[in-house]
Amino acid sequence: MCSLDMEKCPVWRETPRVGRKPHQCDCCSRHIRKGEAHIEHASAFGGRMQGERLCFGCWWARTSAVEQHGPGEQLTPSPSYAWEWLTTCADDGASYRQELAILKWNRRRAASERRESVAP
Ligand SMILES: [Zn+2]
Ligand SMILES: [Zn+2]
Repeated sequence: MCSLDMEKCPVWRETPRVGRKPHQCDCCSRHIRKGEAHIEHASAFGGRMQGERLCFGCWWARTSAVEQHGPGEQLTPSPSYAWEWLTTCADDGASYRQELAILKWNRRRAASERRESVAP
């Protein structure tokens, strides 16, 4: 049984994009290069619009996890909440083995990008 309590978002839009400029994934924080396919996310919560980006790997992991989630509980987390959502849900007993492996791999890559960008 999942302990997460999510609210339905009144405005929710996700559009596939090919980046005309570089972005950053709000789930794993790795760089989305110019020309790379990703998802542009827009949602409004409590009257505030937020715009986020989601890289393709994270998008797949999130979609797959939502599909495995119980019926009637298929609310999708926003990109910046996806990691917390998946790990919390996994603590509750869901497995998401492949999905977590992809997200972890992406986050490791993001960490090594950060190390490279500060290297002389
Ligand atoms: Zn990502
Ligand atoms: Zn859950």
